[in-house]
Amino acid sequence: MAVIIDGKKIAQETRAEIAAQVAEQKNQGFTPGLAVIIVGENPASQVYVRNKHKACGEAGMYSEVIALPEATTEEELLSVIARLNDDTKIDGILVQLPLPKHINETQVLNAIRPDKDVDAFHPVNTGKIMIGNPDFLPCTPAGVMVMLKKSGIDVTGKHCVVVGRSNIVGKPMAMLLLAANGTVTVCHSKTQNLAEVTRSADILVVAIGRADFITGDMIKEGAVVIDVGMNRRADGKLTGDVEFASCAEKASYITPVPGGVGPMTITMLLQNTLTAAALHHKQ
Ligand code: NDP
Repeated sequence: MAVIIDGKKIAQETRAEIAAQVAEQKNQGFTPGLAVIIVGENPASQVYVRNKHKACGEAGMYSEVIALPEATTEEELLSVIARLNDDTKIDGILVQLPLPKHINETQVLNAIRPDKDVDAFHPVNTGKIMIGNPDFLPCTPAGVMVMLKKSGIDVTGKHCVVVGRSNIVGKPMAMLLLAANGTVTVCHSKTQNLAEVTRSADILVVAIGRADFITGDMIKEGAVVIDVGMNRRADGKLTGDVEFASCAEKASYITPVPGGVGPMTITMLLQNTLTAAALHHKQ
């Protein structure tokens, strides 16, 4: 039976470390600040934004939520970003996705100043990750790396299989595992013989958005299984991309959903805001 990696506990420990560093920054005369912009009334987005605001407060950071109506134009949103780009109280800017359909997401994300791009979605930051010289790491993959480290799992030389190739999770996840000296394979919806590939993984990271897709027969004995998926069942319960019961029997380590990768994502947002503040106040 696998060891269950407790994301909640690791997130709490990491947040305590961040709060201590925020206190240190305050002693030096500045407070890290985050602005979160939400457009429209998507209920899930509202919950995420509330949680981010609350987490900032608990870490001792300054945070602002800018809630804009659904009918906000792209120009109006861009002018809010331009104002925040110049606001010295704000070290990090995050635009909650998804945006309403009439707004071009790429244009908006590219308008955030790279040194305030705490989601690390700007091409400058994705490029820096690619060449191994990042300022910020994308929150979810960075959270996975912290979980591996704090669980004592060494990536060096391991075959790491990432299922999913989105810009937000799969691709940066692959880059971070590579940077940690893993041997990385990336799978996607066109991958042939997926189960054969996943069965060869020492470390399997799954981010596809399909409930219980990876089953016990798709992993090898002793594999480390990280489930990034967050899917709502018909009964409203949250479930991952990995069928927990059958995989936990074979894995050496596994993350649950909820209580696994999820709590780490906001934690890494706090980390990036702290890093941005340190960059802005470098002597
Ligand atoms: P996307 O929908 O952007 O990407 C899904 C990826 O999975 C695509 O690359 C797609 O392949 C691949 N895929 C889909 N079906 C299959 C399949 N049958 N076999 C192999 N690959 C497949 O999703 P995200 O990356 O944004 O999110 C993935 C999951 O992670 C979601 O459940 C999301 O809710 C969750 N998530 C969780 C976070 C957290 O904090 N825990 C944060 C962000 C996301 P292709 O490219 O070929 O279409």
